[in-house]
Amino acid sequence: MQEREVAGITCGGVLAELADYLDDAVEPAVRARIEAHLRGCDQCERFGGAYAGTVKALRARLAPALDEARLARLLEATED
Ligand SMILES: [Zn+2]
Repeated sequence: MQEREVAGITCGGVLAELADYLDDAVEPAVRARIEAHLRGCDQCERFGGAYAGTVKALRARLAPALDEARLARLLEATED
């Protein structure tokens, strides 16, 4: 993957912020810059789309597991 600078942010910069971006944990100015980069950079658009899909799939799989772990801990706490 070639490092490019689009909309004042490099591909590496976008990747570094992407997890926070998907979590809505970035400043509006950073979000706007990432979106401008993704629109103007086809390689990040492809990668960002794949990454977003992966994160969503992972979360869908992790969420029930986390609930189970929490439930197990609750049951343990109430057991005497
Ligand atoms: Zn890029």
